Parts: sequence; C-alpha cells; structure tokens
Amino acid sequence: MRKLLVSLLFASLPAAAAVSEQDIQTAEKLRDQALASHQAYDLVKSLVVEVGPRLAGSENNKKAEAWAVAKLKSLGFDKVYTEALTIPTWARGTIHAEISAPYRQHLVLTALGGSVGTDAKGIDAEVVRFADIDALKAADRNAVAGKIVFIDKPMARVQNGFQYGTTVAGRAMGAVEAAKLGAKAVLIRSVGTGLSRFPHTGMMRYQDDVTKIPAAALAVPDANLVAAMLQAGKPVKLHLTMTAEPGPQTTVHNVIAEVTGSEKPDEIVLIAGHLDSWDEGQGAIDDGAGIAIAAAAGKLIKDLPKRPKRTIRVVFFAAEETGLWGGKAYVEQHKGKDLAKHVLAGESDFGADRVYRIDTRFGPEGEALRSALNKVLSPIGVDMGDNQAGGGSEVSLLPYQGVPVVSLRQDGTYYFDYHHTADDTLNKIDPAQLAQNVAAWVATVYLAAQNDSPLRPIPEGNFGE
Ligand SMILES: [Zn+2]
Repeated sequence: MRKLLVSLLFASLPAAAAVSEQDIQTAEKLRDQALASHQAYDLVKSLVVEVGPRLAGSENNKKAEAWAVAKLKSLGFDKVYTEALTIPTWARGTIHAEISAPYRQHLVLTALGGSVGTDAKGIDAEVVRFADIDALKAADRNAVAGKIVFIDKPMARVQNGFQYGTTVAGRAMGAVEAAKLGAKAVLIRSVGTGLSRFPHTGMMRYQDDVTKIPAAALAVPDANLVAAMLQAGKPVKLHLTMTAEPGPQTTVHNVIAEVTGSEKPDEIVLIAGHLDSWDEGQGAIDDGAGIAIAAAAGKLIKDLPKRPKRTIRVVFFAAEETGLWGGKAYVEQHKGKDLAKHVLAGESDFGADRVYRIDTRFGPEGEALRSALNKVLSPIGVDMGDNQAGGGSEVSLLPYQGVPVVSLRQDGTYYFDYHHTADDTLNKIDPAQLAQNVAAWVATVYLAAQNDSPLRPIPEGNFGE
C-alpha cells in the first residue's frame, strides 16, 4: 500500500514540478506583452535603415556587427560578446545576358553566390534545357558539351515552404553536373514562387575535381521567355558576361547576448537568427526579422522582476547564407565546453509571417514541456506539431551534438516571393505578425528556461528540416 502510494506520488510529481502553474502564468504574461510590443519591428527597422544589406565578410557586414553589439548593449543584456571565425568571401560584380537568336532580348538574372565569372568577352553558346537536375544528370555529353545549361524547375507555393528543399538542388549542384558534361555555364530558373522580375540568388557549390563554370539565376519571367523560345523549336543562343569572383578569407563574428540564469546559470537556452544577408535586398525578412525576434524575446525576459532559472543566450550567427559558417564555428568552439549544457536551441530564419506550428525534438520526459507549450501557444494560433524538429538552418547542426531543439514553423506561403531577391525589404514585414513571432518565442524560451524535466536524450534519426 505504502509502495503504491509512493509510486503514485512519484508518478504525478515530475509532470507537476517540471513546469509550475506560476511559470505558465509568467509565460502567458510575456506572450501578451510581446503581442503588444513594437520592439522587434523597431530593431529590424533600425538594422535596415542604419546598415542595410550585409553580405558575409563585406564592409557592411562589419557595420552590422558593430550595430548588433551596440544595440544589444543598449537593450541591457547581462553579457554581450563576440566570437570570431574565418570565412571565404565572394564579390557579385556585374552581370549581363541577352538572347542573341532567334529573337534578340535582354535577360534579367543574378549571379549565384560563390560563382566564378566569365572572361571579358563573355560566353556565346546555344542553350540546352533540362526540367530538373536529375534530367541533366541523365543527359548525354553530346547534348551538353559547349552549351549553356538551363535548369527549368519551377517551385510550387506551399505554406510550409518544403518545396524549397526539393527545388534548390539545381541551384546548389547545377554547375557541377553541367560542367561534368562539358557545359560552358549554367542558368537556373530562380528558386522562388513570385511572378515578379526579381531573380533569386543563393549559394551554389563547386567540386574540386570538376571545372568551375559560371552560374546564375534567371528571373521567373525571363526563364519563361527562354523556355517559350525553346518550345518554338529553333536553336536559342545566348550571350553571358559576368564578373563575379571569389575573394580572400576574412574574419567575421557571431554576436552573442545573455540573460544570466538565477539558479542554473551554466545551463543554456539558445535562441538565434543570422546577421548576414544577401547583398541585393535589405535583408529584412532574411534574416533581419529573425535576429529582431530573438533579441526582442530575450529583452522581455531580461525585463522580468526576476531572472529565469537558466541562462538565455541570444545568438546572431555570422555568415549563414554563404555556408552556415557561424553555426559550424559555434559547434566547434563550444563542443567539449558548454554544448552539453545547452538545454534547448532554436532559430528564427523563415521570414516574418506568423508562427502556426511548433515542432520539438525532446526526449520522453519532454512531454511536460510540450503540454505547457501547447497551453500557452495555442491561444495565439500555434498548433503542437511533431517531435522530429531539426531546429532551423544554423541550429540544425546542434541535434547532432545531442542538443534538444524546437522549430517554430512560420507561414511560408509568400516567403519565397521575396527570398534572396532585391525585393527583400522592410515593407514585407507586418509588425503584428512579427510581434506574434516574438510572443511564440518568448513563451517557448522562458518555459524551457524554467522547465525541470530533462529534454535529453533526444530521439535519433534524420535531423533535416
Ligand atoms: Zn536566412
């Protein structure tokens, strides 16, 4: 009988103690404060107005780092510091392309990140179209050698944005696959969902043993134009000149701010975004919004009358766009040190539209936190999702180190209209939706900092998003 009583008590204790009613009430208060606050919008606006685009390793990127340190200090975080890392740089240069036959037409396009340029007189060659990278891989060398490869894969509009993952292979690996078959250059249909004439840049890769050929993305209407001319059956010839080139290695910094925990300061809840952006837009939705959300959430917790139990670490990662450099350096620099003490990590890097779902990757005892999160987040339209989260781009490296993660899924219906274009500007951010993001994050981070049930060990498996 006594045994039964003890085990009953014991069974009911961890769930009750893991997240207290008081913690839930504080999380609800933080959530509601965030909904009424302009803090995140003010932050991203300040970044856009005072710095603007900030290609990793550029002069503007350095200005952004100085902006970030000064801003985080002015918000009153307990600690603000930077961690240096070395990255390769790249310069976009200029680009010009036109169809020379059968009908002369100017094309709107942009160099892909990391691409080499052409020589001064450029490339004149016939275009050969492939529906996607798999069709290119299966092609005969005779059909490709000496030509400009055009990868014409469209991207469908879906709320979770998962089409990006299936479309982006042509951008990432198109130059390698085309060069293997002797192509002179590769052009892709922009990886985007809009109809506007803004081409979408983004990172591409080379392989050491394969010739490096120039790679660029056509705006969607220009991809349509090339496709329509090819459909007519006459050979389509194109002229391409571009001066993009890889640059020297340089030093950049992850910028970090903390709210020091009151009971377990060595245990860390990490919330992140990335400070760098592509160079043609303002870097507002990618990822000015994300760092603003992270900082605003941290600031609300800092302003509580009492510090949370665990430390909140706000990280502005460096150089995400050009190769996840900030995230990789973070793992290297914290492995064997405090990485084992990270109780939770998450990153906001999917624009500025509202959060509609939360996925987690917690161990079996994480149910208490999941149910507390559900209680606090469902009133703001966030549904509880699965337990297979990857954590978002930079943070996606952390589950491999055993770190529990959350993914707060944002509505991505319109994100890929603007993503990586010159049209990524402040007016794409709705302040109310941005505030809803802060509300979802601040409640999540606070509850994780108070929660006393272990979230480790996390379930194994595929950590991809
Ligand atoms: Zn991003």
